[in-house]
Amino acid sequence: MRVVITGGAGFLGSHLCQRLIGLEHEVTCIDNLITGSMDNVAHLMGHERFTFVKYNVCDYLHVAGPLDAVMHFASPASPQDYLEFPIATLKVGALGTHKALGLAKAKNARFLLASTSEVYGDPLVSPQPEDYWGNVNPISPRGVYDEAKRFAEAMTMAYHRYHGVDTRIVRIFNTYGPAMRPKDGRVVSNFIVQALSGEPLTVYGDGSQTRSFCYVDDLVEGITRLLLAPSGKTHEERTDRAFIYQRSAPSVHDPTNIGNPQELSVLEIARKVQALIGTEIPIEFKPLPADDPKVRRPDITRARTLLDWEPKVGLEEGLGRTIEYFRKRLL
Ligand code: UDP
Repeated sequence: MRVVITGGAGFLGSHLCQRLIGLEHEVTCIDNLITGSMDNVAHLMGHERFTFVKYNVCDYLHVAGPLDAVMHFASPASPQDYLEFPIATLKVGALGTHKALGLAKAKNARFLLASTSEVYGDPLVSPQPEDYWGNVNPISPRGVYDEAKRFAEAMTMAYHRYHGVDTRIVRIFNTYGPAMRPKDGRVVSNFIVQALSGEPLTVYGDGSQTRSFCYVDDLVEGITRLLLAPSGKTHEERTDRAFIYQRSAPSVHDPTNIGNPQELSVLEIARKVQALIGTEIPIEFKPLPADDPKVRRPDITRARTLLDWEPKVGLEEGLGRTIEYFRKRLL
């Protein structure tokens, strides 16, 4: 396959570039490097099946030759980043998704959107199944990401229903592993880098809020399965008329949660990092960011059923690998 990956120099995008090259596919990585880094794809530069293009995917997208798939992974994805780049976040979720879908449509290629558990906002239902519509504050600082991704999902489903594009949507839950930036701002990288630097672990709020952490290799496996899964019924087969969308059994064209259902409080994560790096490292409590979700845990029944996927890497093992990565990187 010839695959375009937007955001291919980011944390998840670069893992996907690596995986698809390993599966003998040809990859064009497009990234404007505002949060991505060339370091993440340096090892692929010069590979005969890898091309890097520095470009903002909010602008008209053209890629020469045939394409089999477009994977839209470009977006700031850490709360710290989308607070720093609120308008770029809204634009890449809205305009960038539109351009990436337009490219997929023009090339008759499959399209996969990187969506997020943030579409569930501060959920009132837990664990979160895909048919939960969420509890999002559109005007909170983190609303820029949540609403951009909700719009991106709506746009993707519209291209599926109205243009017949073969689309897929992955709702990605908290993920960690090598290729995160040391100053990414997300909790696992923050705690590991702080612990390795002998600094206190910054727990926001009282640390009772929960998250469920998936090791990046598991996530990439789930996403690859979703990308390669055979198409389900076409939009014509699924709808009587375009404006009366019939609810039918979920297919690969409906959003799919990919994440690890093992749920921990933030304080428990801090304790795990202490146990793995040094029990004497202190914890420092800091204010809780606005609208920080109180709980988050994926219901992965759909991924199990449609993709025969579930995570394999336990937290201790994943944290161990991530600590090794940061240890080397910080030397
Ligand atoms: N968090 C924390 N300390 C940090 C960074 C994050 O306590 O140094 C908390 C944050 O408030 C949230 C959770 O950890 O409750 C996960 O934050 P992250 O930024 O990793 O992702 P989110 O799930 O909020 O998008």
